[in-house]
Amino acid sequence: MFKQMETDSLEQLHFFSDPSTELRAIVAIHNTQRGPALGGCRFIPYSTTNEAITDAIRLAKGMSYKAALAGLPFGGGKAVIIQPDTIKDRHALMRSFGQSIHSMNGQYITAMDSGTLVDDMDDIAQQTNFVSCTRHMGDPSPATARGVLAGIRANLKYTTGSDILKGRHIAIQGLGHVGLSLATQLHNAGSHLTVTDIDDNKMLLARQQLNADICSPEEIYGINCDVFSPCGLGAVINSETISRLRCGSIAGSANNQLEAPEMGLQLKQRNILYAPDYVINSGGLMFVAMRYQQLTDVAISNKIAGIFDTLSDIYLDAKQDNRVISDIADQRALEIIQQSGPNQFQAA
Ligand code: NAD
Repeated sequence: MFKQMETDSLEQLHFFSDPSTELRAIVAIHNTQRGPALGGCRFIPYSTTNEAITDAIRLAKGMSYKAALAGLPFGGGKAVIIQPDTIKDRHALMRSFGQSIHSMNGQYITAMDSGTLVDDMDDIAQQTNFVSCTRHMGDPSPATARGVLAGIRANLKYTTGSDILKGRHIAIQGLGHVGLSLATQLHNAGSHLTVTDIDDNKMLLARQQLNADICSPEEIYGINCDVFSPCGLGAVINSETISRLRCGSIAGSANNQLEAPEMGLQLKQRNILYAPDYVINSGGLMFVAMRYQQLTDVAISNKIAGIFDTLSDIYLDAKQDNRVISDIADQRALEIIQQSGPNQFQAA
């Protein structure tokens, strides 16, 4: 376990157990150099404890990088609660998790992630203030979608010289909380949409309300379009799909879009611009972090609009140094963390 922590430069790993509520939780704190660690809590089944630990560590590191490139005064952390076979009392379990979080004295602030709901955050909030995404803070998905829209404009600017959305053809995979909001914004801006989802009703709605063309989940990869926007699952850019892509660039909200890091190089070789997922989908984190800080909606919107410049700068660097875009993003994030000076959280 120590080896795993050292490999990923993890600061802390916490375990919480409460047999009375069946709570088994792991909190990984990757870095608090820039501030307290902020990151969601997963509540999903894991086949082994090691799998849960690995998930928490990997995700916590990603959050540090995301917060750094987003210019937020937060570090990266992530929690996983191992979902029991049957959940006896979800409210009690979440309140117990809230007490665990509270015992960490603000080093980690939790939020929603796969398997957790706004109701869970409200339960946690009964025990601690170190929680975001509660009902009164609101849903981050529209903010994520606004960030993806800024990213799509950055991609268009770089690949075509103009960031005008009108008349562009965008293919969206997944019409969930983010995908549908993005599709609506693009439709309003005059873009032509091709969309897919495994849920036929969502596709039909998009066809009726947004005049979108629809296709099967498999066909979306081969759509000849300006931008392919993965807003459903991870690992969709993989050895099987990459050769089918007919897009000028990729810009979507899904986490971990590249199945393996070498996909970044293959996209570069195929001259397909790729917006690193943790940069383009950081609008949600900006919303969550800045709502937690009680900053204004105008400040949040300005921050989200900045995703255009962040991506454009990364693309210029990558072009200048002839390097893979995701490598440049990682390097920049690491430099920002390392240059943050003394540990901001511990100093406070
Ligand atoms: P969601 O669950 O609301 O939507 C996902 C959609 O993808 C669903 O409509 C689902 O039916 C569809 N889908 C699943 N498999 C599919 C497939 N094979 N082909 C086509 N469609 C498929 O999730 P969301 O909140 O909209 O998030 C979408 C992605 O963005 C996720 O990867 C998430 O981790 C990431 N993300 C979301 C946020 C946010 O604020 N919600 C922030 C950052 C990253």
